[in-house]
Amino acid sequence: MSTPKDIPVIGKDALGREVKELSKVPWWGMERTKIEWYPSIDYDKCATCGVCFVTCGRRVFDFDKKTEKVVVAHPYNCMVACQTCANLCPTNAITFPNADYIKTLVAQNKVVKKAFKIISPLLSKNELSEKELKSTPEGR
Ligand code: SF4
Ligand code: SF4
Repeated sequence: MSTPKDIPVIGKDALGREVKELSKVPWWGMERTKIEWYPSIDYDKCATCGVCFVTCGRRVFDFDKKTEKVVVAHPYNCMVACQTCANLCPTNAITFPNADYIKTLVAQNKVVKKAFKIISPLLSKNELSEKELKSTPEGR
């Protein structure tokens, strides 16, 4: 699914690419701001290394100059079900809700069915091109 063009830009990622206000983009028909999926930082464990800030391509994290801490500035920009930052954090300071929360959302919102509807035309095209491939001299 592509991001609508009228979504405002909130800043740039570590590679200088523009990042949009993704909280305004629905997740499989659900308002993103109604899905409580985003990182939480345990400041007793956080070493302010900046790994999460640098690696998240969605600008979820920011650096608070006053407190000199990394903060979750754009929680709803987080990609639903992603946990990359938690996996990369060297001090295990980042946590997410239980994965069962996502499983329930997926089931309630019929995400698999919706996803299959989107990809099935693409799959048919691939099957077609496989047939076409077989009919070529190289495919025989
Ligand atoms: S990666 Fe972990 S330790 Fe480093 S700034 Fe982020 S939360 Fe803190
Ligand atoms: S889970 Fe993924 S999208 Fe969400 S804040 Fe972490 S790295 Fe960014």
